[in-house]
Amino acid sequence: MADIADKLPENVPGKYYVDDQCIDCDVCRDTSPANFMRDDENGYSYVWKQPETAEERELCEEALMACPVEAIGDDGAGEGESNEVSKENELVGSW
Ligand code: SF4
Repeated sequence: MADIADKLPENVPGKYYVDDQCIDCDVCRDTSPANFMRDDENGYSYVWKQPETAEERELCEEALMACPVEAIGDDGAGEGESNEVSKENELVGSW
């Protein structure tokens, strides 16, 4: 399963992302070319556009399921929010 802590920096913010386990196999780019792109310099894929239609969402889900090393995650939405909340809780807890 993809780990958001290992998310590649090229991913656009949002639900889907690729982490550093990617082996550049081309499956996601082939499945959902509107959302996944290759970083030619580093030799991996990343999400360059989050899905905007039902069809794109379906294809991203398909790519996630098909990735041979499970490098695609779908828990990127709201990233940062939970950190903020936990920081707030820490502050509240320190009083
Ligand atoms: S399917 Fe997985 S391993 Fe293959 S290029 Fe996409 S993210 Fe990388």
